[in-house]
Amino acid sequence: MTTTAAGDTTKTLKRITWQSENCLSCMWFSPSDPINADILTNGRCVHSELNKFNLIITGRDWCNLFDEIPQEQIDQMQEKAMQSEQ
Ligand code: SF4
Repeated sequence: MTTTAAGDTTKTLKRITWQSENCLSCMWFSPSDPINADILTNGRCVHSELNKFNLIITGRDWCNLFDEIPQEQIDQMQEKAMQSEQ
């Protein structure tokens, strides 16, 4: 068994890392919870070519139709979700 110094722990731990170009950061992801969406949040893909499959995806999924979501779209989606909660 190999031991490591406390300072090396971060190098050996497995962890979920933020991925770029995943569904969470794609403009075609419609998360079930837009306010708290993270990589484990499920939702639907509303891309015109994939919509017909009724895919249930999570924020950490990915495909080659990825298109980065602009911050303005995130803000609008979250504001709409907050208004519907009131
Ligand atoms: S499945 Fe593809 S197009 Fe749909 S949200 Fe994910 S990356 Fe975007």
